[in-house]
Amino acid sequence: METEYVRRADIINTFQIWRTDLTQQIEENIEFPHIRSDLKVCRTQLDDCIHAVQDIPAADVRPVVRGEWEYISFMTVKCSNCKETFHELEGDNFCPNCGADMRGGNIDG
Ligand SMILES: [Zn+2]
Repeated sequence: METEYVRRADIINTFQIWRTDLTQQIEENIEFPHIRSDLKVCRTQLDDCIHAVQDIPAADVRPVVRGEWEYISFMTVKCSNCKETFHELEGDNFCPNCGADMRGGNIDG
């Protein structure tokens, strides 16, 4: 399975939305102590999840920069990202100047 990377802030933001929802449900169920108790347990477990995500070391990755070869003339192409021109490079997978990935495909993956 290919390794996938996600932004820590995106995960924590999602958990915070769920936490806000749980807190609202706790307040709405003031007449039902057993439900409140269960919801508080859920919120505590969610807090544990948030802390666990915060504690995971960051991976050494950067966003993929994508580009494409723009045809200039016979045997000459230009990188759409850094605008550098090259000779006899059409078909290479990466720009030798900026490292842009020229393989196309989905921006998300
Ligand atoms: Zn480039």
